[in-house]
Amino acid sequence: MTMSDDDLARLDDRLDRLVNLDIGNRGVEHLYEAARDREGRPLVGAAAERLLAVPEGGTVVLTTGSVSRAWITPEIGENDGPSGAAAIARALVLARNVTCVVLAEEALLQPIGAVMTTAGLTCTDIETARAASADCSLATVVMQAYPTDDAAGAAVANTMLDDLKPDLLFSTERVGRNEKGIYHNMGGRDYGMGRARVDLLFDEAIARGLPVVAVGDGGNEIGMARVRDAVIAHVPFGDTCTCGCGGGIVAVTGADVLVTAACSNWGCTAIAAAMAARAGDARLLHTPEAEGRLLDCMVANGLINSTHGIVDDNVDGIARASHVAIAELCRSIVARVL
Ligand SMILES: [Zn+2]
Repeated sequence: MTMSDDDLARLDDRLDRLVNLDIGNRGVEHLYEAARDREGRPLVGAAAERLLAVPEGGTVVLTTGSVSRAWITPEIGENDGPSGAAAIARALVLARNVTCVVLAEEALLQPIGAVMTTAGLTCTDIETARAASADCSLATVVMQAYPTDDAAGAAVANTMLDDLKPDLLFSTERVGRNEKGIYHNMGGRDYGMGRARVDLLFDEAIARGLPVVAVGDGGNEIGMARVRDAVIAHVPFGDTCTCGCGGGIVAVTGADVLVTAACSNWGCTAIAAAMAARAGDARLLHTPEAEGRLLDCMVANGLINSTHGIVDDNVDGIARASHVAIAELCRSIVARVL
């Protein structure tokens, strides 16, 4: 079925507005307005087109995962981020046979890898992933650790980009440092301990002119520099943190396209729907059935609901049924063109 650009823009706009409905009452609507204004068009459509512009057999670096209680232990991750990243990686593999390389803390590779597997991707090494991509016969993902200290994180950025030669970088729910080099949670607290310095690699990629698509829901994530003024104006601790570093929580790392959402996973669900609509391929959807499986997987692998500090499927403190419903509504919005 062919669609006019106006038709597509209307679908994109519905997806945008759905996933930016601030159910968690976290103030995302201000960030959405700023990002939408900056983009000049619906956010999810812009993101989907960047992702689908990756060439057949190309390479994408993805990052997600947040060590949520870093000041207690750097080994516990949260459940906003991984399922959304898995939905995007899966869509990239199905649409373009992309080799996806996911960067995270060593401690989080196992749980995030389990989420990728549940989404349909076999975790493997880079050589096998490239062979699978060339053969178009196996959906894979590469889980790779990124250094957790500033010096090593900066040192490997260039060589990693030289080695992987990514066509695009994608981040969802991955905190970036502020202008003082500190990583803050939404409470304005320094929680950089044991955190992979992936934002340093993204900065290097941006300096090289590589396209970056980022998803966030708070203001402290990679990509949020694109709406810096709005974070400072509207997000608690946007201008002044509580750690004493003298900065606010807004990340210094930007993006070519920033997708805001009330929960980062929803932003990814909506992007996958916008990709499916463009490709005319329902396989690219992140379905409510898949969302349910990924929520179960994240619980089974100990990823926490970071709002309540407990292992359950109420991501960001929002009830499970809402996450499944968002996937259903995204599918419904694009169903008529699939
Ligand atoms: Zn601070």
